[in-house]
Amino acid sequence: MSKKDLRFNSKTIHGGQHPDAAYGAVMPPIYQTSTYAQTTPGGHKGFEYSRSANPTRTALENALASIENGTYGLAFASGLSAIDAVIKLLEPGDEVISTNDLYGGSYRLFRQIFEKFGITFHFMGMQSVDAIAEKVNGNTKLIWVETPTNPMMNVIDIASISKLAKDKGLLLAVDNTFATPYLQRPLDLGADIVMHSATKYLGGHSDVVVGALVVKDKDLADKLYFIQNASGAVCGPMDSFLTLRGIKTLHVRMQRHCENGKIIAEYLKDHQKIEKVYWPGFEEHPNHDIAKTQMDDFGGMISFIPKGSSFEDAVKIVENLRVFTLAESLGGVESLAGHPASMTHASIPKVEREKSGVVDSLIRLSVGIEDAEDLIADLEQAIG
Ligand SMILES: *Cc1c(COP(=O)(O)O)cnc(C)c1O
Repeated sequence: MSKKDLRFNSKTIHGGQHPDAAYGAVMPPIYQTSTYAQTTPGGHKGFEYSRSANPTRTALENALASIENGTYGLAFASGLSAIDAVIKLLEPGDEVISTNDLYGGSYRLFRQIFEKFGITFHFMGMQSVDAIAEKVNGNTKLIWVETPTNPMMNVIDIASISKLAKDKGLLLAVDNTFATPYLQRPLDLGADIVMHSATKYLGGHSDVVVGALVVKDKDLADKLYFIQNASGAVCGPMDSFLTLRGIKTLHVRMQRHCENGKIIAEYLKDHQKIEKVYWPGFEEHPNHDIAKTQMDDFGGMISFIPKGSSFEDAVKIVENLRVFTLAESLGGVESLAGHPASMTHASIPKVEREKSGVVDSLIRLSVGIEDAEDLIADLEQAIG
C-alpha cells in the first residue's frame, strides 16, 4: 500500500515519512547544520546549504504536503513569513481581495508593508460570492480567505469562491490555521494555496513559531520555493522537528478540541450572563450549513460577549480565569483566553474592528484538551 493512499489519521503519522537514510532513525534527526560537505564542487547528496534545504525541514514539508492532500509543502519561520511569501508572487499594481475579519497580523502585513510597494488590498465580508465577483477587476490577482474567521467565527464557502477564482484566472489562498486539515482540506475544495500558522494546532504545544504553505501545482511550488530561498525566512531544524512531532498527534488532539469546544459553547450559550456566543457548530450560526458541508466538525475556537459588559468587564473576566491562561495564540493542548480588542486585533483601528463585530467586550477562547468539567468550573468562577 502506498503512503499516498493512507487515511488522514495514518497520514499524520506516516505521510511523506521514512526512516532516516544514515542510521535508520525512525524520527528524523535534528540536522542542526548550516552546510554539507561536498566531494567535488556541486558533488553533494541533495543538500548544500540549510536556507535552501535541510533534511529535518524536508521531512516536515513532506508531512505538510501529505496531510493537506497537496504535492509540495514549504515550511517558514512563522505564519506571517509564509503569507509574506505568497504576496511576493504579486507585482506593483496588483490587487488582492481579502476577508474583513482576518488575523490582525495579516491585516498589518497587507496594509503597512505591502501597500507601500503598490499592491492594493480590498477587505470585505465574503458571504456573497456575487459581491466578491463585483470587486474583481483587471488588476485582481489573488483572493485571500481565512475560514473560520478570527475571532468572529464566520465560515466562508471555499468551493464557491474557488469556482469564481478559476473563472477569472485568480489565485485562491486559504489560511487554514483555525480548521486544520483534520476538519477542512482547502486544496480538495479547489484552492491553489493552503497557508498555516503551524504555531497553532499543527505544532499544538505552544512551543514553536512556524509557518507553512502547501500547493499542488508544480509551477506555483517552484515560484514559492524561489521566494522562500531568496527571501530566506525558513523554518529551522529544531522547530521543524517539534512541528513534525506535533503533527503526529493532530488527529487525537483535534478530536478532543472539538468535543470540549462543543461542551463549552453549549455551556456559554445557556449561561444567563452571556449575551452572544460565536461557534459554527450552532444550528442558528448564520453559516452553519456551509460549515457542515466543508468541515468535518466545528473545532475548539469560540468567541463570546458577556451581557451588558464593557471593555473593563471583559478584561476582568479574562484576568480571573485560572485554568484558561490569558495569552495570545491558540491551538495548544492548554486552554487559552484572549481579549481581541486589546491583544490580537489591537493593530486594527477600532472603527474597522467594530465593523466586523470585534467589539470591546468580545472574549476569545481556544479550548484545550483538559477535562471539560475543569474548564467549565473555571469559566463559572470567572464570569461570576
Ligand atoms: C497566528 C496566526 C497567523 C500568524 O502566524 P504566526 O505563526 O504568528 O506568524 C496567521 N493567521 C492566523 C489565523 C493565525 O491565527
